[in-house]
Amino acid sequence: MAAHRLDFGSGVHYSNFVIKIGQFPERYMAEKDKTGSRKTIAATSQMKTIMADYFASLDRAAKTGERKIAWCTSVGPAELLQSFGFLVYYPENHGALLGATRTATDCIPSANAIGYSPDICSYLTSDVGAYLKGFTPLAKAYGMESVPKADILVYNTNQCRDVQDWFAFYAREWSVPLVGVHTHRQIKEVRGHHVTDLVAQMKGMITTLEEVSGNRFDIDRLRESVRLSLECTKLWRKVLEYGAVKPAPLTFFDASIHMAPAVVLRGTPQAVDYYKVLSAEMDQRVKNGIAAVEGERHRIYWDGMPIWGKLRDLSELFVSLGTNIVASTYCNSWIFDAFDPAQPFESMARAYTELFIVRDESYKEAYMDRWIRDFSVDGVIYHDAKTCPNNSNSRYGMPQRMTERLGVPTLVLNGDLNDLRCYSEEQAKTNIEAFIEQLDQQKSAA
Ligand code: SF4
Repeated sequence: MAAHRLDFGSGVHYSNFVIKIGQFPERYMAEKDKTGSRKTIAATSQMKTIMADYFASLDRAAKTGERKIAWCTSVGPAELLQSFGFLVYYPENHGALLGATRTATDCIPSANAIGYSPDICSYLTSDVGAYLKGFTPLAKAYGMESVPKADILVYNTNQCRDVQDWFAFYAREWSVPLVGVHTHRQIKEVRGHHVTDLVAQMKGMITTLEEVSGNRFDIDRLRESVRLSLECTKLWRKVLEYGAVKPAPLTFFDASIHMAPAVVLRGTPQAVDYYKVLSAEMDQRVKNGIAAVEGERHRIYWDGMPIWGKLRDLSELFVSLGTNIVASTYCNSWIFDAFDPAQPFESMARAYTELFIVRDESYKEAYMDRWIRDFSVDGVIYHDAKTCPNNSNSRYGMPQRMTERLGVPTLVLNGDLNDLRCYSEEQAKTNIEAFIEQLDQQKSAA
């Protein structure tokens, strides 16, 4: 392991101060035991059922060949694949599962051993490493022997280049077709030529998709899939917007789990039905004044990836601090306002280019400013994920500019989505507690 991967530095930047490790008083520790965990969401059991059904159908298709399987990146042209009758599998979801089950770190070295650097995406390295080891957490969760083998792999580079290299590994391994679209990146506004180019690229995939699926392209099936994705996205946005209510009825930790159907089942009626149930539950919570974090004192915006292996620990820490993470860039990534069944290709091209991760720094800052104001946010935490520069927005001075512009304190937390060797629990805890102490002081001074 490269030395820098264990160097967490001796302090943390926030609001132009540096807090040294060990300076923070321990008074919040006692509060943790009093406050317990965040409120459980009743709809969770329904989500577990639809996710189990989804994986069962993938497992069946992989074993019997009754349906063809397409692997797709999480913000890729899933609707196009569904229109050909493919069952769509998302390896990033598998990556998150490896992270959440804390098995990722053990798998990464196997990918490193065949030349995939420890510094590249730890979804990629943990997923490829798990494959090489013959391991999957899907076995324990859903009784699957392995990930479902792809008949075709379809990527979109809108989020990063790593996905192309990730899928290329499996294309070589299984000798199956690899196709993809290359999205313009770092853009301020989505312009006509961006859309036209992507439409041409997507249409260019049709012949291959027809050959692999054995089905002819059907525009009406595509329209239907886009229509269902639009419905799903509207409901998912509605769920996330409940975070603006004071006190908020859900947390970032809830949203990171409950976004799963928006990732893997958008374009299907199951996802639409599920988010109707979830949003009704949030509505009821608001009507009854139920807070996800009892005694909510501070409201945080989280930028960057979740630290999957530490979701529960971090959730409990924030609950103990009377603090709710009410909004995040990450969970907003599955809001695709542009979908339009009347213009399926154009609207898919637009929806998958409008994403935060695709945009330039000025767009990102304006976007976050809006959510910070609308959600009455007191402070912003930037997760600097060591292996995902694409979702780490603290590296070019954004936190400092934000504090200057809005007067909102910011904290940069070093860690990673999956590689827990890049994360120091003690340091993160100290930094978060110090940050909340600063918010306390600001509040009492106001
Ligand atoms: S965006 Fe980041 S986490 Fe997602 S696939 Fe790319 S490098 Fe990995």
